[in-house]
Amino acid sequence: MPVAGPNTPRAPRRSRAARPTPPLGSLTQAAHRESAVCGSCGSERVTRLSMALTDGTEVQFVSCHVCEERSWLSPGGPLSVASVLDRTRKQ
Ligand SMILES: [Zn+2]
Repeated sequence: MPVAGPNTPRAPRRSRAARPTPPLGSLTQAAHRESAVCGSCGSERVTRLSMALTDGTEVQFVSCHVCEERSWLSPGGPLSVASVLDRTRKQ
């Protein structure tokens, strides 16, 4: 995925509250409560649900409206769907 660095000139958007955009590399610490972005396209147009799996793992389900990426994030990092299902089955 091409990553636009902070120095890459792009069409500047007028927003007064200049919100610092975290570098994409920090997505690995993704469990930030306040901001969820798509792990695939970086869009903030995502639906985020927080829930706890059967084994007690707190996860966030992030569904992107732009590219339809769906991902599961745990405090330890992204989870695969298979891993989520596996944890859900465990009692
Ligand atoms: Zn996306």
